[in-house]
Amino acid sequence: MKTIIAGREVDTRHFIGNERISSPQTFPAHSAITEKELGTVARGTQTEVDMAVAAAKAAFPAWAALGAQGRLPYLERLAHLIESRVEDLAAVETMNNGSLLEASRLRVMKRGAHNIHFFAQMALEMGKCWDTEAAKNAVNQVSYDPAGVTALITPWNAPFMLSTWKVGPALAAGNTVVLKPAEWTPFTASLLADMALEAGLPAGVFNVVQGFGAEAGAALVAHKDVKRISFTGSVPTAKKIASSAAQNLTPVSFELGGKSPFIVFADCDLELALFNALDQYDNCGQVCLSGTRLLVEDSIYDQFLSEFKSRAANLIQGDPREAKTVVGPLVTRTHLDRVDGFVQRAKQAGATLEFGGQVSPTLGGLYYQPTLFSHVPDGAEILSSEVFGPVLTIQKFSSEAELLALANNTEYGLAAMLFTKDQAKATRISSQLVAGTVWQNCFYVRDLSAPFGGSKQSGIGREGGHWSFDFYCDIKNTMHRKGTFY
Ligand code: ADP
Repeated sequence: MKTIIAGREVDTRHFIGNERISSPQTFPAHSAITEKELGTVARGTQTEVDMAVAAAKAAFPAWAALGAQGRLPYLERLAHLIESRVEDLAAVETMNNGSLLEASRLRVMKRGAHNIHFFAQMALEMGKCWDTEAAKNAVNQVSYDPAGVTALITPWNAPFMLSTWKVGPALAAGNTVVLKPAEWTPFTASLLADMALEAGLPAGVFNVVQGFGAEAGAALVAHKDVKRISFTGSVPTAKKIASSAAQNLTPVSFELGGKSPFIVFADCDLELALFNALDQYDNCGQVCLSGTRLLVEDSIYDQFLSEFKSRAANLIQGDPREAKTVVGPLVTRTHLDRVDGFVQRAKQAGATLEFGGQVSPTLGGLYYQPTLFSHVPDGAEILSSEVFGPVLTIQKFSSEAELLALANNTEYGLAAMLFTKDQAKATRISSQLVAGTVWQNCFYVRDLSAPFGGSKQSGIGREGGHWSFDFYCDIKNTMHRKGTFY
């Protein structure tokens, strides 16, 4: 079972124990660009999940025993293979979910390779020895023991990047993996499986089960032999996974939605703030980190709004394969209907539509226009619910206290961006924002050694740097006495 996407061959079966496995049933996956079917994909159920977990469990002892040094050559080979196939990965992913081809080729897919490389290298440094102060002549050793089979569940907005973000540390730590990609975007995970095979990963170390969340995903997270669950997706799904994981006390790492504030102070570099504000439409707004609530200081509100409107009018929306495009389509018709539902309800609630609010009349398809609402009544759904589309709101504030009340008035706490030239103010405000990541005078800058995750309903735990190993490992403290025993 294979399909051709953007001229590249993609196997649409599962990958279990280094073999391609079919299922009796299949499901179709589509292109965001054409809305046409790209291929039929094996539909995993409990049976395939059981097979994959069994393969991963069997492969675990030998993979763990290799140690970080022993695993390094495999993972470096995998990272190099990803680098060598950046063009294929970008082409396939763009055709599938409509993300911008240039960004994918130049940054996103390379970051995929870096995710593998970075954590493979970092694993070499995990585990420390130090002299214990409390007990003289004793040495404390902390070891990061791999946990076992990990279940990695990824979303459709950045499928390959987010898969490698989990696969990298999970494998580097000595675990084995069962990856369940989102059903709307199954293809690049399959290319990753091809590369895992080519890199020589032993059978069962890396497995992919395709299928629906409520079927394959649910079976995977409920499996008693799964020792870690890392999930990126929506809050309602996270709650289902958490309740399933609770039955086995399986530790979870969740990165969920956001409703992040994008804060603009009057003393900011206005050009910089406007440039970054427009960036919130990146990936047609299908970015959990997006600063979807523009909060602007009242003295520059009118100027900011008028500048923002004129620049947004010049955003080029179109085919994501074209280099000039900056806003592509939404992922599927189902999702478009969801996004449009939020927009219609915001209008009904009395919000002022500054621009957008519909599918592009010239492009049609899934090309939902960049949209902005102002004068949104307090309590309107659009101020609190994650849309996951190109829909922003703008509000004004006149004091730091008012700003903080607005900024933190959400169930989410994933990210915040703030723009001011006053560093003392930036520090003061940042310390009071509830968010996993605060970007001061920038956006999207990521350092893999830094923690990443969300507060409140935006997640549980942090990944990145040693936080990834804290999650993917069973951390052991061994204390041994130096010298004689009496
Ligand atoms: P969305 O609603 O935007 O599709 P989800 O959070 O439902 O986002 O999906 C993210 C990932 O979670 C996908 O891979 C999906 O298949 C998976 N998923 C959905 N429901 C479940 C579930 N009950 N158990 C495990 N995984 C699930």
